[in-house]
Amino acid sequence: MRPVIIAHRGASGHLPEHTLQAKALAFAMGADYLEQDIVATRDDRLVVLHDIHLDGVTDVASRYPDRAREDGRYYVRDFDLAEIGTLRVHERRDTDGQQVFPGRRNHDGADFRVHTLERELELVRILTGSGGRDVGIYPEIKSPVWHQEEGVDISMLVLDVLRRYGYTSHNDPVYLQCFDEHELQRIRQELGCKLKLVQLIDEDTLELVLTNFSATQVEEKLKALSGTVEGIGPPVNKLYTVEDGRIEDRGFVAKAHAQGLVVHPYTFRDDSLPPGFATIDELFEFAVGQLNIDGFFTDFPDSAARYLQRHRTKK
Ligand code: CA
Repeated sequence: MRPVIIAHRGASGHLPEHTLQAKALAFAMGADYLEQDIVATRDDRLVVLHDIHLDGVTDVASRYPDRAREDGRYYVRDFDLAEIGTLRVHERRDTDGQQVFPGRRNHDGADFRVHTLERELELVRILTGSGGRDVGIYPEIKSPVWHQEEGVDISMLVLDVLRRYGYTSHNDPVYLQCFDEHELQRIRQELGCKLKLVQLIDEDTLELVLTNFSATQVEEKLKALSGTVEGIGPPVNKLYTVEDGRIEDRGFVAKAHAQGLVVHPYTFRDDSLPPGFATIDELFEFAVGQLNIDGFFTDFPDSAARYLQRHRTKK
């Protein structure tokens, strides 16, 4: 099966992340899935944003200077949807105000906004079938425990919106993702969700599993996960080692496949390559040809589509 292209926060290498424009562009570039990170507002609406904070990608600090918490951050949860709707979205910046990916266009003056999960699902409805292609969704529930402490059950809200837009069964074009293993179990067992689920794995967890666990323990862990989820999302740079320029597969993907799990690593970026690779095509070649992954999260769906096109032609 051809690996699927998951547009990481949309075509975020080209347009500000998680804007509707970045999602439409990702579809046009050939993405199979559009990713939505989801956070709850003060009035319990769901918005598509990567952080529980607004300051990395919006002008909130200049618009609402007195609304930061003690840590100096502006939380989505402290604003109503109507307020968030007035903010302008820009390229991601760090806390010093520097662009995180300096080579990306800033689009000064362009009117990018934050939108709700519902608006994005409406866009997906419009896009589906346009140009003879379908597109799936790949929502991520952000920080469920933090949201619970803030008094909102974000998973229930997300499942409710997904249900209203027709995403209910195992075969629907959706993967629901989360880093929180316990929450995924709750979503499957208590909330009765039938959708395909993906356990995200962060660098520390995976490093821990790969270095501290025996081969059998890794297999057991993956087997246990396969009781709840259909796939895993590990960081791509932890799936191999580099020694004296030699790149070696750590065998994690094959172990996951043996448990029936699909593997969708993150994040493939033309402008920020992991160790051992000089071009994005080298990375694609290794990930597809050797690791045998099932899909990639990428900020640049266009280069993934071009790679797969050539790959297909070669075969
Ligand atoms: Ca995400």
